[in-house]
Amino acid sequence: MPAGARRVSGLCTGLKILNMTIDAKALREILAFVADAVELEESRLNALDAAIGDGDHGITVRLGFHAVRKARSSQPQSEEISAVLGQTGKAFMGATGGAIGIIFGRILMCGQKALAGREALGVQELKCWLAAMESTVAAVGKAKPGDKTILDALHAANLALSSRTFDPDDVVGAFRVARDAAESGARDTANMLCKVGRASKLGAQVLGHPDPGAVMFSIVMDAFYRWLEEHESPEGAPGH
Ligand SMILES: [Mg+2]
Repeated sequence: MPAGARRVSGLCTGLKILNMTIDAKALREILAFVADAVELEESRLNALDAAIGDGDHGITVRLGFHAVRKARSSQPQSEEISAVLGQTGKAFMGATGGAIGIIFGRILMCGQKALAGREALGVQELKCWLAAMESTVAAVGKAKPGDKTILDALHAANLALSSRTFDPDDVVGAFRVARDAAESGARDTANMLCKVGRASKLGAQVLGHPDPGAVMFSIVMDAFYRWLEEHESPEGAPGH
């Protein structure tokens, strides 16, 4: 297991390790895992976009994540989590065109300010970051929940986390709740009309089709959760 996934070892509840948080090294590994997960879904994302737009969503986010992967591998080991998010967000934005390039770039970049000075990404930091994501995307995309955009998945995740209390060490549980809410928020977009962007001209034709940006955000949350779940294994298990 990567050392960065666990900041304090030896404190166990049963067999689960306490105090699991995500430091900069772990965050860089997670971003590579997220990039792989999004790339695997490229054709599904293109197909979802083709139903309500121009069919390039998967291609665009693949290019963005390719740049994220490159940016993270060139970062110095000493980097803080906020800098990892700022630099990878800039890289995503620089490599992609269109609204989603700016919006997903800003999703990463807003973590730079929201998590400034934090050593690691834990439950509290995830809550701060999601709140920053929602206000940033609402402002940049000029969207509200219900407009059939990425904001619907993000809003659902932010709401689910902000309305719940977690054990401060349960970052895996917090990501699971965020992932489940993002997936359900993304599914709900199938029943919405597009209110912003070019697809707003399509009217009822978009019903039955989820928003590709919302689905992509749920894939990102799912990859974060799966990486953490995989690395939160009992002491002494294979991988340690
Ligand atoms: Mg498109």
